[in-house]
Amino acid sequence: IPVDPFDLVIFGGTGDLARRKILPGLFRRYCSGQMPETAQIVGAARSDMDDAGYREMVAEAIREFGGGRACEDGTLDAFLARVGYVAVDAKGEGGWADLKGRLRDDAVRAFYFSVAPSLFGDIAERLQSFGLATPASRIVVEKPFGNDLATAQALNATLARHFDEHQIYRIDHYLGKETVQNLMAVRFGNMLFEPLWNAQYVDHIQITVAETVGVGGRGSYYDKSGAMRDMVQNHLMQLLCLIAMEPPARFEPDAVRDEKLKVIRALDPVDPHHIVRGQYEASAGDGGYREHAENPRSTTESFVALKCHVSNWRWAGTPFYLRTGKRLRARTSEIVVVFKDAPHSIFGAESGRHRNVLAIRLQPNEGMTLDVTIKEPGPGGMRLVDVPLDMTFAKALGPEAADVPDAYERLIMDVIRGNQTLFMRGDEVEAAWAWTDPIIAGWQKRGEVPKPYESGSSGPEDALMLMHRDGRKWRDIR
Ligand code: NAD
Repeated sequence: IPVDPFDLVIFGGTGDLARRKILPGLFRRYCSGQMPETAQIVGAARSDMDDAGYREMVAEAIREFGGGRACEDGTLDAFLARVGYVAVDAKGEGGWADLKGRLRDDAVRAFYFSVAPSLFGDIAERLQSFGLATPASRIVVEKPFGNDLATAQALNATLARHFDEHQIYRIDHYLGKETVQNLMAVRFGNMLFEPLWNAQYVDHIQITVAETVGVGGRGSYYDKSGAMRDMVQNHLMQLLCLIAMEPPARFEPDAVRDEKLKVIRALDPVDPHHIVRGQYEASAGDGGYREHAENPRSTTESFVALKCHVSNWRWAGTPFYLRTGKRLRARTSEIVVVFKDAPHSIFGAESGRHRNVLAIRLQPNEGMTLDVTIKEPGPGGMRLVDVPLDMTFAKALGPEAADVPDAYERLIMDVIRGNQTLFMRGDEVEAAWAWTDPIIAGWQKRGEVPKPYESGSSGPEDALMLMHRDGRKWRDIR
């Protein structure tokens, strides 16, 4: 369904994120017929460039990062005709009047802040003072949203001086993933899971976001942040919320976000013995974390694993294990719900231990599997075996189903539609920092140094022990 006509201004329109994700994503939506012919995209950044120069840059970005989407001849040109550029100084006066002249009164107006957070306040202020923002305009802000509670509060306060909360779209692209929304469909659209979705039937939950890449060229930026701030406080926390939240009364922005907020507020402080930090070592032919961060004494973690508890009636006593890291064995993001053992095995101890496991895979191959215990076929007696019921979209719904929009595409279209359901509210972000801050402060106070781990492994040995001690096991990173 095409969205309403819109003017989308991308501040930082020449930057890495715009070229890799935002512009190719918009092009794919255009190819899918979701973007109205009257849509307008305006890049706004520091570089001096005209419309033609920017279109060339956009075309190149689409060719490089567009995922080879086959579009009919002429489609790229038709898309580029919708694209323009204005050089704007976020901290000065230059370009703002020109940019205002490009905007139409009868179109949805959205401003994407794809720039460093230090510029958010300057841009928000100028959008108002130069008269570009209307009460119906939307702003989209990128991560990182603060570096701790105090900076997140300051950022929220700055934005709130110029925009109402219903105009602010804080992106966490994990929420734009098809599987994440499917998780809500599975939980709240079926009778099968929700009655079992609690401490009585669930043994534990694991959330893993593993990357194979190191910090690469972002080393010095990353070194100020680390896995806890860069991944856990936002992405893993959002996934935890969707898994643990109560059913909202409606699938509407504030109903959903109220429930997510309650989960974060119900999180217990984490016991320092229940956290493992790691730093990847050099591997054959490549440096380790400290080389990449250009900081030989860095104590920033490129890996973190922790156990936490959501203290409410539904989850009392059920551990949630989270882990994320760089330079791990495989690139995989997965939420795993491990159900408890059947209370009594009529097949005897020799039939082994069998558990239902629901694995929700965000990447690669978005989809879900549910391990179910059945009898191994054949005459060998009552031998039990676990087989996965496979809900990979492409298998169940045909190959077109695998061609799902990228998270950014979906989220940008949600901005145009004015749907905030998959965006973080200011209080959620602050609550997540309020939980994260004492963990980081504890490391600093105790002078803790991350454990080294081998590149291409599953992280430090201690992370495996975190679960072994509880008689549990991480699912393999594969
Ligand atoms: P970048 O450095 O590649 O691009 C920065 C952009 O900001 C450029 O277009 C530049 O011209 C513009 N800019 C800088 N100063 C300006 C000024 N004074 N006035 C006007 N424009 C100015 O950065 P990026 O990697 O594209 O990241 C942008 C934002 O997105 C950051 O907040 C970053 O944390 C976030 N982010 C990036 C990625 C990514 O993969 N690159 C992923 C998640 C979040």
